[in-house]
Amino acid sequence: MTKGEPPAVHVLWMNGGLGCDGDSVALTAATQPSIEEIVLGGLPGLPKIAMHWPLLDFECGPAGGVDSFIDWWYRADRGELDPFVLVVEGSVPDESTNSAGCWAGFGTDPATGQPISTTEWLDRLAPKATAVLAAGTCAGYGGIHAMAGNPTGAMGVPDHLGWDWKSKDGIPVVVVPGCPVQPDNLSETILHLLYQVAGNAPMIDLDEALRPRWLFETTVHEGCDRAGYYEQDDFARQFGSPKCLVKLGCWGQVVRCNVPKRGWINGIGGCPNVGGICIACTMPGFPDKFMPFMEHPLGGTTPAPAKTLNGTAIRVLRDVRSKAADPIIQ
Ligand code: SF4
Ligand code: SF4
Ligand code: SF4
Repeated sequence: MTKGEPPAVHVLWMNGGLGCDGDSVALTAATQPSIEEIVLGGLPGLPKIAMHWPLLDFECGPAGGVDSFIDWWYRADRGELDPFVLVVEGSVPDESTNSAGCWAGFGTDPATGQPISTTEWLDRLAPKATAVLAAGTCAGYGGIHAMAGNPTGAMGVPDHLGWDWKSKDGIPVVVVPGCPVQPDNLSETILHLLYQVAGNAPMIDLDEALRPRWLFETTVHEGCDRAGYYEQDDFARQFGSPKCLVKLGCWGQVVRCNVPKRGWINGIGGCPNVGGICIACTMPGFPDKFMPFMEHPLGGTTPAPAKTLNGTAIRVLRDVRSKAADPIIQ
């Protein structure tokens, strides 16, 4: 950095919780914007970014060593990095349920050689961070590890810090759910936070589940390519059919997720659009609340009679109109 240049915004990415690194891997597929554009300063108005991300970082040494990766965490803890955004990937275990060792650790304490728990890092760094971003459903709401029977007491960052928690700059925990997260949803949110830290964007708008509102305000169903089939009560009875998947277990009607509209990579893909049922992976309570998977979400023989009647009428009328409008199918 040259003299007079503003300080870099550091991004400390902590993936040492209970997780699979799937959200880190997903981010490498982002295109709107790509992580390369963010890190290499390819977007106007962005501050210089210093990304400390285990997935790709060349630095890997222990505390105090040459090229020490973990030293950035110690520096942040000492208040030497400001501003920084703390990204948490993976759920937060409840270390009070643990009689020895820790459920999840991140780096070692040079004094003892013992792991430092991820939960302790979160407690140390959250008060000093400009913003805390929970990447993926595990970090957001507990996710897979918070299933009944898991002994770790796994929870999301807002459960641990408090749903009303705010950073020293007044920013609530920002949650971008998904298992894994949709790549562009994460890169776009990181971008917004970085612009906000640089004073070039307003306070991020979050909904009641702390998700960026503009990304999670519509349901899967509202963006699904198969919604026309649903409307005319035309349901798939087996996978491979182009019809609505509700009877095969699709939860899309009640799930907030933009994947059918946004696609997965570069606009391509998107669960029900490409034949997979929505299993509600972005939702608080996932997965327990939405299990068993692959069964009709309402458990019955919906659609209700009135809707069936409507659907049948729509199908017949559409058929008549199609024939009138298109001589090829007459
Ligand atoms: Fe892995 Fe899913 Fe958890 Fe992300 S939310 S860490 S992809 S299990
Ligand atoms: Fe809705 Fe799912 Fe059917 Fe798509 S497949 S129309 S999301 S119920
Ligand atoms: Fe998850 Fe459903 Fe969205 Fe697919 S459509 S990413 S299963 S919430």
